[in-house]
Amino acid sequence: MEVELSETLNSLKPTENQRIIDLVEMAGVDVSDWANFNGKEPATNPKYCYEWSFVSEQTATLVCCIWHDMLQVTEGKIQAVFNVLKTALTQNAQQKKRAHKFHNDLHRAKDNNWTIRAVILSEKFSRNGTSKVDKRVLDESPWFVDSYDPYTNEWKLTRGKGKHQTKFVDQFSEEGPASRKEVNGIAFKRDGKQRLEVLERAQGICEFCGQPGFQLPSGALYLETHHIIPLSEDGPDVASNMIALCPNHHREAHYGIKARHMRVRMQEIIAKSLVKAIVAP
Ligand SMILES: [Zn+2]
Ligand SMILES: [Zn+2]
Repeated sequence: MEVELSETLNSLKPTENQRIIDLVEMAGVDVSDWANFNGKEPATNPKYCYEWSFVSEQTATLVCCIWHDMLQVTEGKIQAVFNVLKTALTQNAQQKKRAHKFHNDLHRAKDNNWTIRAVILSEKFSRNGTSKVDKRVLDESPWFVDSYDPYTNEWKLTRGKGKHQTKFVDQFSEEGPASRKEVNGIAFKRDGKQRLEVLERAQGICEFCGQPGFQLPSGALYLETHHIIPLSEDGPDVASNMIALCPNHHREAHYGIKARHMRVRMQEIIAKSLVKAIVAP
């Protein structure tokens, strides 16, 4: 298990230099304000692009920039342990501000059980010994705040889903919008256990596009469960024939011109995620 985990840890090392604005958007954080930059390239807006953390209250998500070097395998988990306030001590005024924002964001994430998304960074050293970001990747797995030590100010983030993390609900859940009737008129009986398994698998993130669902007043994250081969076509009512979708992709899967194409793509996505689930604990 430790060996497998250190392989996973190695595989998290970024191999591409993706733009931070794209990764933050992929994690479901609204980046429209980056464009308020005197007509200049939004991706280079200094108000955002050098930040260490990005918040979306709407989707209960905190995006954290984490150096790959800081990741470690401990207690059978992949973790990042760091002290951002201590790091701040050695930084210039601007970076200090960013570090304190990161620290405060982590507190908000911890207090509200937000999902953490990790942007993993690798660094490049220049001749004068300073380092800068070389490559970045958005980890596809969610993370959570495992613990915070108020005496040392040390944060421990763990890869995977947290015990007390956000509840996930769909259109048939008690607090979902339609504990009413099936949308297309004919009511098929659905296996609630299978739906919940799908929602757990998705972790609040649309399995088709990778964007988080929106947050309900209860704090739960909302996605819609969908049968890839419909029950009306004798598709089985099992998790492997189901996918959790954002409302937009759910409607598209039913009514869009690309519905047929999406069906094939969704089957591929789920087949891949099931293989992963067998490999990873
Ligand atoms: Zn989607
Ligand atoms: Zn559907």
